[in-house]
Formats: sequence, C-alpha cells, structure tokens
Amino acid sequence: MFNLGIIVEVRTPNMWEKRVQYLKGVGPQRARLLARLGISTVGDLLFHVPRRHEDRTRCRPLKAYQDGELATAEGEVAAVQQTRARSGITVLRAALRGRWGLFYAVWFNQPYLTRVLKAGSRLTVTGKVRHGPYAPEIQVTEFETGEGEEGLNSGRIVPIYPLTDKLSQRILRGIVFQALSEAAALPEILPPRMLEEYGLRERHGVLAALHFPESMAEAERARRRLVFEELFLLQLAILRRRQKVVAQEKSHRYSVDGVKVTALQKSLPFALTREQEKAWREISADMTNARPMQRLLQGDVGAGKTVVAALALAKAAENGLQAALMAPTEILAEQHYLSLKSLLRSADIKAALLTGGLKKERRLLTLEAIVSGEVEVVVGTHALIQEGVVFRRLGLTVVDEQHRFGVRQRDLLRAKGDCPDVLIMTATPIPRTLALTLYGDLDLTVIGALPPGRKPVKTVWLKPAEKARLYRLVQSEIKKGRQAYFVCPLIEESEQLSAQAAIKLAEELKPVFPGFNVGLLHGRMKLEEREQVMNAFRDNKINILVATTVVEVGVDVPNATLMAVFDADRFGLAQLHQLRGRVGRSDQASYCVLVAGRTTPEAAARIKALTSLGDGFALAEEDLRLRGPGEFFGTRQSGIPELRIADLLRDHDLLEVTRHEAHRFLMEDPEFTSPFGCRLKAEIAFRFEAPTDSIG
Ligand code: ADP
Ligand code: MG
Repeated sequence: MFNLGIIVEVRTPNMWEKRVQYLKGVGPQRARLLARLGISTVGDLLFHVPRRHEDRTRCRPLKAYQDGELATAEGEVAAVQQTRARSGITVLRAALRGRWGLFYAVWFNQPYLTRVLKAGSRLTVTGKVRHGPYAPEIQVTEFETGEGEEGLNSGRIVPIYPLTDKLSQRILRGIVFQALSEAAALPEILPPRMLEEYGLRERHGVLAALHFPESMAEAERARRRLVFEELFLLQLAILRRRQKVVAQEKSHRYSVDGVKVTALQKSLPFALTREQEKAWREISADMTNARPMQRLLQGDVGAGKTVVAALALAKAAENGLQAALMAPTEILAEQHYLSLKSLLRSADIKAALLTGGLKKERRLLTLEAIVSGEVEVVVGTHALIQEGVVFRRLGLTVVDEQHRFGVRQRDLLRAKGDCPDVLIMTATPIPRTLALTLYGDLDLTVIGALPPGRKPVKTVWLKPAEKARLYRLVQSEIKKGRQAYFVCPLIEESEQLSAQAAIKLAEELKPVFPGFNVGLLHGRMKLEEREQVMNAFRDNKINILVATTVVEVGVDVPNATLMAVFDADRFGLAQLHQLRGRVGRSDQASYCVLVAGRTTPEAAARIKALTSLGDGFALAEEDLRLRGPGEFFGTRQSGIPELRIADLLRDHDLLEVTRHEAHRFLMEDPEFTSPFGCRLKAEIAFRFEAPTDSIG
C-alpha cells in the first residue's frame, strides 16, 4: 500500500499506530483510564474533541461580576470547612487565595470532596457568583484540581473535555499538549482547490488549534476543517464501495416485463398507487440494466412495499432466475412467505421458506429444491446466508427492514449469486441527511404516500389505572367485528421472560372478554403453532392477539384496528411507530393505546411525540433530536463507522457537500493513485478500519 515514495512522510511515525502509554506522563494506569474514553492511540487522543472551550484570557476580579453571573477563578486552597444545614444539606466551603484576594468556593451535598480539597492544592472553579458579606463566593458547578502544565489551564482559551472518573481536565490537557508536540505534522490530504472553495484552513497545525486555539473563532475553524475532512473520507469510502459493486456486469439479462409480472399485477385486489407504480418502474429499469441494482426502497409502515418487491421477485422468476427475500425475524419471514406464496402462485411461481426453525427433513428438502432451481423464490431469515445454502442461479436479493441487518449480512447474501440485483426495503424513516450517510452506496426510491383511504391512527396515552377505558374501547371494536393486538414488552432481551409476560397477560384478559377468543403469540412457540395462530388471527377466529414484540414488523392483518402497548415507556420511538403501523391498514378508524405510568422525562417525551405525530419522517426527526445521531437506530449495526468529530445533526450541511466532492474526486482518481489519492486511501484505512473494509 505504501510503495510510493511520496508517502514516506505519512508513514513515520503514525499517530494511529502509536499507543498512548508510550507518551511521557502516561503509564499503564492512565492508559487504562484513557481506554475508558475510547482512547488507545495517539490519534484517538488527538481526535478526542473538546466538549467546549472556555475563554480564560480575560479574567476579571470577582468583584467585577454581578450576582448570578457565571465566572471562573483560580486559587490555592487556604482552608476547608464542612457544615450541615438544618435542612440536612451538607455545605462544603473552601477559602481560596486567588490573584485578586480571598474568595470562597461552595459545594452542596458532596461531602466526599473533603478528600480532594487539601490545603495548599490549586483549584480552578466555575459557577455562579454571589457576593457575601466578607468575600465573593462561587457556587461551583465545575472544578479542576491537580498538577498540570503551568499556562495550559488559565490565561488562555482552555479546552474542556468529556471525562471519566479519576482523570482530571488538567491531566488530560497536559497529556494532549504533550501528544501535540510529539505527533508529526499532518500532511495535507485535501486538494488546494477544495480548501479554497469551502474556505477551509490548511491541515498543518489544525489539531493544536482544535485543542488550544488562540481564539474561539480559530477553534471553530479547526473543527469545521476536521468535520469536512472526516465526512469527505467517509463519503469516499462509501462511494468507492458502491463503485466496486456497480462496476461489475451482470451475467444475466432481463427482458421486458412478461407473463408472470403481468399475471401478478392482474391478481392484485387493488390498483397500485402512483408512487408504487413509480417505484416499480425504477426497480424494473434497474433490473434491465447491465449493472447490478443497488436500490433502497423506503416507505413508511403500511406504505405497500411488499407488492412492489413481489413484482421484482416475479420478474426474476420470469427470466429464469432465482430470488431471495431476507427478513430479520422468523415471524416476519413467515408472514412474507404466507402472503407472497399465494400472490406468486397466481403467477405460477414456486416459493419456499427457509428459517432456522425448520425441521431437519423439511430443511434438507428445501435446500435441495434451492440447489436444483426447482424453487424460484426463497423467503427466509439469516438462515439464508449460511454456508449450506446454495442457489442454482440467484439473480435478485431483497432485504426487508434493512436497519436490522448490517452491511456484512447484506454482502453475504449478495455473495450467494453472481452479481445479483439488490433491493433493500426499510420502513425506518431516515431523515434525508442521515440516509446519505447510512445508505450512501444505494440509490433511493421513496414511496411517500400511503394507499388511498387510510385514516390516521388515533393515538392516546393511558395510565395503568385507566385500563378500564382501554377495555371499553377494545370491547366496542371487537363487537364491531374488528380485532385488537395487546403487546407486552420484551424483557431484558430474554425471550423466555417476555413469553411468560405474554402468557400472563393473555390469562388476565380472557375473563375480561368472555365470549371472545384471546390468542397468544411469542418467540418461544413452535413454527407450526405460530402459523396456526397467525392464520386464525387473519381469519378473524382470534379477536384479541396478545403478543411480544414479535409482531413489530411486517404483520399485516387489515381488519385489526386497535393496538395496545403495555409499558410503552420501555420502547423506543421507532419501535412504537412500527407497532402502531400494524393498525390503520384499512379504511376503518384505528386506535393505538400506549399504556405507561409515571416515567422518565425522555420516555414521556417519546410517548407525547407519538400521540401528536403520525408521520414517520416527522417522528424520525424528533427521535434524532431526542436521542442524538449516535443512538439513532444503532448506527453501529447499520455499518456506518463511528464519527469522531462530525455531528450529523449539527453538520448536516456538509454531508451533501462532501458527497458531491467525493463523487467528483472519484471521477478523476477512481483508483486513488494520485498523490492526494494515496494519502486519502491510507487515511481511510486508518480512520475507518473495518466497517467498509478495504476500499482499494
Ligand atoms: P409495508 O410497506 O409496511 O411493508 P405492506 O406491503 O405490508 O406495507 O402493505 C400494507 C397493506 O396495504 C397491505 O395490507 C397491502 O395489501 C395493502 N396495500 C398495498 N398496496 C395497496 C394499494 N395500492 N391499495 C390498497 N391497499 C394496498
Ligand atoms: Mg413490510
């Protein structure tokens, strides 16, 4: 990789290889503390971005502050005194000798601090100022102790880092400063044109400016440069990955839509909506193309993605190819299988189910039918990507609910065929800015509207004490011939316990609704039992279905009009939206009842968002706001590397810009052979190691 003379300068020494414990002042113990912050190399350390900066250049005497104003002051501890107020609160008061005389620092209810605050030690405290009768005092919200490089901690703009116990701001500042002076100068990796066009500062000295800037503006400029760089590298990696796939040529060719696609279309009990039509046109065109399709089909819960996928499956079969549809759970795979089987049969296409739950004989028979090509469409779970599964001629892979799978699993499925077309479906309403990053290697088709006649699902929050209201509502719905779901939460990832909770709830409900059938569905049941229950529910022989979150995705029974979720505060926003999506699938009015007692403010905010917002995209934006992008649907799972500097929410404007630039760069230097290309390639390898794997 480094055979070109030009990058020898990058090679030695490399901060992404040098481990922090070999820095002066960092022994094994501090190295362990740093590891808790995710810092193991000098690179990690220097990319540990300050949470904020504090301007300590213009220190004023505390006298000059108003009561209640925020101030920072430094001094030496002269005395410490602890008292207990009548209310029971402990008050810790330290007298400090500072540059402008004596002042007090005050802490409430932190008695253990007496161990830290020794007479003679130096302290920097931040907090609100109060002018007492003797001397000004600071009610401390943040403070720093410990030794540390003189001149790093005051009289300048000072970085404030995300910290862990036992590691003080002062110590970390010292270590970072040390690392800065030891790290080799960073060679420029962005071409001059880009720096000029986007007003970015050069790379040399950027890390020093990020940590110890001369001005607040300099800190922001440094951050912006590094954000640009990080997103540009990420986009390059993603686009390169896509290029490699799309550069291939399919060994198979499709003809124009023929008998099977037409037969399937004719057999549908409804006409496709305009958006479904458009989605199908795009997919069909991709399939006809010589390059393999890489498309994401996005549509809110209930938008009708499955029929569109079915048309693609039929098109593959029609051209003598096999197709595979992979779903994240057994229940969902079964659901898809059952509904697709009958749909595909009308076009004379043979489908099979392949999941881990199959009995051995049936599994072997299915595998044989797949190898021989007798089965044209295989619906399944992860079981599809196992080694023993061999297709005769796999031409199309469809992945449902992509957010549950990683990039790797997607790739494994693709590897079962010779350059198959790839269609990925998701109901996760990803905000556009994030979609560009999460799915930057895919083309995007959106089904933006629900089928006609759908009414918004009326969503309410009830307290457990108001259960009677819920039961009355259920009663009136099932009397009208409609059906209801009751969902109890998955308990600590234990299927066993969640199953028990569901069983208990079903027993409780039976006497409440005499004369009606209460069914039960959970992950511990056998495949045949689950099939029976789902069939009975679909045929309206079960009025109330008590289930664990196994019904979360994909279940499609339009006659169900009520979804009750117990302990709703324990679910995430996206999950609740998925559950709610099980109802509102016909022209009947539907209800979603979220049952939760007193709960955390965050959970309350989620439930409230759901009661006021119906649209998945609005909810996704809200989710992003509430949780931050790091948490968003588990970005690690979706295969996007962790970003150190960029904040997808705050820096979304740069997402599109860097994508555009990455495109442009790859057009000129697709193999990364130019001097900048070489450096970029090396940088990507160091910064994003595994997730996109080798990009070369
Ligand atoms: P999702 O996009 O969540 O996978 P589905 O494909 O399960 O949605 O479709 C939701 C429901 O809408 C299904 O009952 C399906 O039969 C129905 N449906 C799909 N397309 C249409 C349409 N064009 N008109 C009426 N109903 C439709
Ligand atoms: Mg679906």
